[in-house]
Amino acid sequence: MKVARYSESKAINEIEGVSRRDVVTSNDGASNFTMHVVEITTHASTPTHHHPWEHEIFITAGKGMVVGEKGGTQIAEGNVIFIPDNETHCFVNTGEDTLRYIDIKPLKEKPKS
Ligand SMILES: [Zn+2]
Repeated sequence: MKVARYSESKAINEIEGVSRRDVVTSNDGASNFTMHVVEITTHASTPTHHHPWEHEIFITAGKGMVVGEKGGTQIAEGNVIFIPDNETHCFVNTGEDTLRYIDIKPLKEKPKS
């Protein structure tokens, strides 16, 4: 078992205004899922992207917009979001505070069928 504060994990800043903390990984013994905590500063956004794995997301702080293939939807603390495999998406912080969310995703890509 691991019990930790998310802030103890190193923040990785690959994109201006976006930081990701890998809070549960295979290094902890996880064999199916990884957990990440993402923070987006005011007016910043993730790039528009897609990938062959799903996202399961819980917004823990802030306000923003998730933009998918059918347009944008307002999001705020308490919202849950499911983004299926391969759906193009991005997250935009439209609020005045940090937008923070938990992102669960599969550790391994699905085998091609
Ligand atoms: Zn994504």
